[in-house]
Amino acid sequence: MPRAKKDSQKPDQQFATNGISVMGDGNIDGITTVADDRKPGEWGRAWSVNITTYLTTLFILFVTPFIALYLFMACPEFECSVTSPVIQFYHGKLTMAAFLARAPSLNVLAFKMAVIWIMLQILLYYLPDVFGYILPGYAGGTRHGAVTPAGHQLKYNVNGLQSWTITITLWILNGVYFKWFSPAIVVSNWGQLFWVANILGYSLSVFVMIKAHLFPTHAHDRKFSSSIFYDFLMGIELNPRIGKMFDLKLFVNGRIGMMSWSVINISYAWKQYEVHGFVTNSMILVNVLHGLYVIDFFWNEAWYLRTIDIQHDHFGFYLCWGIFVWLPWTYTLQGFYLVHHPTLLSTPVFFGVLLLGIVSYSIFRAVNHQKDLFRRTNGNCKIWGKSPEFIECDYYSGDGKKRRSRLLLSGWWGVARHMNYTGDLFQSLAFCLATGVSHILPYFYFIFISILLFCRCYRDEDSCKLKYGKNWDKYCNRVPYRLIPGVY
Ligand code: NDP
Repeated sequence: MPRAKKDSQKPDQQFATNGISVMGDGNIDGITTVADDRKPGEWGRAWSVNITTYLTTLFILFVTPFIALYLFMACPEFECSVTSPVIQFYHGKLTMAAFLARAPSLNVLAFKMAVIWIMLQILLYYLPDVFGYILPGYAGGTRHGAVTPAGHQLKYNVNGLQSWTITITLWILNGVYFKWFSPAIVVSNWGQLFWVANILGYSLSVFVMIKAHLFPTHAHDRKFSSSIFYDFLMGIELNPRIGKMFDLKLFVNGRIGMMSWSVINISYAWKQYEVHGFVTNSMILVNVLHGLYVIDFFWNEAWYLRTIDIQHDHFGFYLCWGIFVWLPWTYTLQGFYLVHHPTLLSTPVFFGVLLLGIVSYSIFRAVNHQKDLFRRTNGNCKIWGKSPEFIECDYYSGDGKKRRSRLLLSGWWGVARHMNYTGDLFQSLAFCLATGVSHILPYFYFIFISILLFCRCYRDEDSCKLKYGKNWDKYCNRVPYRLIPGVY
C-alpha cells in the first residue's frame, strides 16, 4: 500500500548506520544539558505583550474587518479603484454613512448556503480516507502531528484530498449536468456572504475563547497573556477539539479556508462567462495557479500538520476570522477583479507568468518537501543526492521531558533559512501579474503576503531561539540569510 513510511528508526541508530554528519553538541547517548535560560514548553505563541504588540492587536481586531469590507466594495461600487473612495472621502464627496449605505445587506439565502457548505465539509471530514490506499506516494489516513509544548502528539484523519475531489466534482457536475443552481452563486451573493462569514468568524472566535477557559481539550497546551485582547486575537488553546477527532484548527484552515478558495475561483470564472459570454485567459491562469497551490496543500496535508499554523499558532480570532473572512475575500481578489475587468493577456505574458508561477511553486514545494522528508525519516534520506547534514538539538516540552530534534543544513535549508517563503512570495506575485498591470487592487495579495511572511520570519525565529537556544544561533551562523542568499 502506497502510504508514506513511518518513522521507524531511532536517531541514534541512524547515526551509527548511515554515517550522517552530525554537528553541534553531538552527544548522542546522553544529551548534554544546555547552559541557557530556556524553560520547558515555552516556545510558540508569546506569553507577554508589549505596547507594540498591544497596539497591533487592537489594529487587527478593529481595523482589518473594515479593510476587508473596503477591498470587497471597491470593485462593485468604485470600479475596482482602491484610491477612489479615499479621494472622495478627502474631498468631502463621500461620507462614512453614504459608504456604508452602499454595502450589501444580509439575506437568508447566504445563511442557507453557509450552513449547507459547512455541513457538507463536516460530513466529508469524517469519511475514512480511501485515497491513501489507491494513490501512490500520497500520505492519507491516520497521521500524527508534531509533539506539542505540553508533550502531546495528536492523531488526525488526513482525507483533505478526497474531500476536495468530491467537493469540486460535485460543484462542476452541478454546473454542467444537474444544474441545481449556477456555480456563480457564490460571487452573485458575495456581499451577503461577507456578513455571514463575519458572523461565523466572530462567533467561533468567542466560542473558542470561552471553550479555552471552561472546557479546554489540552489544558496544559493553553497560553495566557496579560491582555484579554491578545488572547482573543492569537488564541488560548493550541489544538481545540470537539470530541476526540474533530480538530477545529485543521477543519477551519483546511476544509473551510483552502476548500472554499477553489470553489470561489470557479465561481468567478462562471460569473465572468455569465456576464461577458467568455472566460479570459487571465481568469484561466488565476484558476490554474491558485488551483496548483490548493491541490498542493491537500496532497501534502500530512506535511501541513508540521507547519507553524498547526504546530505553533493557537486558535483565536487570527485564524477563525482570518480563515472565514480574510482568506476568501482578500486572497481571491484577483478573480473578483477579473469578473469586473476581463483582461486578455498576450501569449508571451501568459506563458511568462505561468513560468514564473511554476518555477516559484517548484521552489516552494521542494523546500517544504526537503524538511518534511528529513523530519519524517529522521534524516535517513538523500537531499540533493547526498546524506543530509544537520545540527542535533535538544529542547524541553512542558512536561519537563528533554526531547530531541534536528535542524537541516543541506539542500534549500542550507541556502537560506526560509526559502519556502521566498518561493511563496514569487508565487503570489505570479497570481497578481496574471491580472495585468492596470490596477493595484489585485496586487493586494502580494503586498499582504510580503508583510505576513516577513513578520513570520521574525516570529518563527524568536520561537526557534526559545526552543533550541544556542543551537539555533549555530544554525543562523551557518545559514546567515533569511530569504534571498547574499541579500537578506
Ligand atoms: P516552515 O514550514 O518553514 O516551518 C517553520 C518550522 O520549521 C520552525 O518553527 C521549526 O519548527 C522548523 N525548522 C526551522 N528551520 C529548520 C531547519 N533548518 N530544519 C528543520 N526544521 C526547521 O514555516 P510555516 O509553517 O510558516 O510555512 C509553511 C509553508 O506555508 C511555507 O511555504 C509558507 O510560505 C506557507 N504559508 C503560507 C501562508 C499563506 O497565507 N499563503 C501563511 C503561512 C505559511 P520545529 O519546532 O519543528 O523545529
